[in-house]
Amino acid sequence: APARIAVTGLAVMGSNLARNLARHGYRVAVHNRSHARTKALVEEHGHEGDFVPAETLEELVASLQTPRQIIIMVKAGAPTDAVIDELVPLLEPGDMVIDGGNAHYADTRRREARLKEAGLHFVGAGISGGEEGALNGPSIMPGGSPESYKHLGPVLEDIAAKVDGVPCCVHVGPDGAGHFVKMVHNGIEYADMQLIAEAYDLLHRVGGQTPARIAEVFRGWNSGDLESYLVEITAEVLGHVDADTGSALVDVIADEAEQKGTGRWTVQEALELGVPVTGIAEAVFARSLSGRVDQRRAAREALGAAEVTPQPDESLVEDVRRALYASKVVAYAQGFDQMRAAGAEYGWDLDLGAMATIWRGGCIIRARFLDRIREAYDKNPDLPSLLVDEYFRDAVKSAEEAWRRVVVKAVSAGVPAPGFVSALAYYDALRSERLPASLVQGLRDFFGAHTYRRTDREGSFHTLWSGDRSQVDA
Ligand code: NDP
Repeated sequence: APARIAVTGLAVMGSNLARNLARHGYRVAVHNRSHARTKALVEEHGHEGDFVPAETLEELVASLQTPRQIIIMVKAGAPTDAVIDELVPLLEPGDMVIDGGNAHYADTRRREARLKEAGLHFVGAGISGGEEGALNGPSIMPGGSPESYKHLGPVLEDIAAKVDGVPCCVHVGPDGAGHFVKMVHNGIEYADMQLIAEAYDLLHRVGGQTPARIAEVFRGWNSGDLESYLVEITAEVLGHVDADTGSALVDVIADEAEQKGTGRWTVQEALELGVPVTGIAEAVFARSLSGRVDQRRAAREALGAAEVTPQPDESLVEDVRRALYASKVVAYAQGFDQMRAAGAEYGWDLDLGAMATIWRGGCIIRARFLDRIREAYDKNPDLPSLLVDEYFRDAVKSAEEAWRRVVVKAVSAGVPAPGFVSALAYYDALRSERLPASLVQGLRDFFGAHTYRRTDREGSFHTLWSGDRSQVDA
């Protein structure tokens, strides 16, 4: 019998996704550029389901029922284009090519437009959850045509993670929508991790607590509002002792964070769209700063490191918990703003509540909190900001005093907390009656005649700064 679906690219993600499909009873055709991986997959896991190994893409295509569905799981970038180039001449109108890699959404838009001309459906599907998710149920964010989702949706929903019986997979929107949403998911993940790291740093350096004790604190937090995969694994990492030295592993790991680029993409796109995603930006910059080892050494030598004297204080733990929660709400609010702006820009008509729903399971930012986000958008799909939803408004307001205390403590001790500080600044700016942007406009008009608008009447105006300083209509 023909295979139901195919996977090409059988490194860790592709082979786990193929196994997931096979375990769900799909006859799955499998292919990899170097055949050894295909052979290894079938040898090691052939008993898990119904695999159809193919040595070439021709063979792969020939083994499939029509319309064909082929998932590409290769290295993102040029390799994806190489596979598409080889695949397209082998396909027939109506066939579906699914890119499950971490593609940039602009590449996905380009590829979708090109394949559409050939009568093919191109589906850029963001897949989150790493290798473990790919095998046991990822969060899947497919873009592409509604027509392709009719064929593909049932299969993807079947292999996706489930929360309360609801699959963590939904048709996100046309062309690049799925990969865009996946990108923002990763950006939010950066922000979330940065905030967690700052919370740890404050408890450690200001609170004077050991990693083992802080692991307990996080374990406790994981049974409240902060319940999430990232908080859960923070407890695991902080509680882990290095076998070589007997120290906490976190004290032995080099403090230079790396990145693969999706956080940077999120910020680059936010800059283009004019959406302030300060939480994600601070997280990306904090990683960059950590990696500038020579510069950090030079600064330490020239300026000296802040000497932080721990001030053990019973209330610090609860204050940090509240500051973390409030800052996290801000970071998510900003990420959701970015998706809304992109949806409007590209005509995607994104259902933001549905995005929160499919991130509840399978992916790295899965959290109890996402139910609240879904509820907020269910109540009001046009919510101007998550922060104005009743639940989140109360959450940040009730955290506000603690949040300020934590920021003051961090700033006065000299412990950098860019995530907490900038989230609070965003919160204060967003609800300000007046912003000093008025002065910025005045300055722009002074040096560049860029004009300004007035609060009391319509129109654009310019002051004759180098003349008699009277105001003229611009
Ligand atoms: P890699 O990104 O390491 O890519 C290796 C695979 O790509 C191999 O199958 C390799 O084939 C194939 N490949 C590379 N170049 C070419 C080419 N020119 N033509 C054909 N095939 C090529 O694999 P991963 O499994 O780690 O990731 C796959 C995709 O999933 C990537 O886009 C990655 O970004 C994404 N990913 C997503 C994660 C998530 O959590 N969602 C986590 C990790 C990855 P060969 O064996 O012949 O070299």
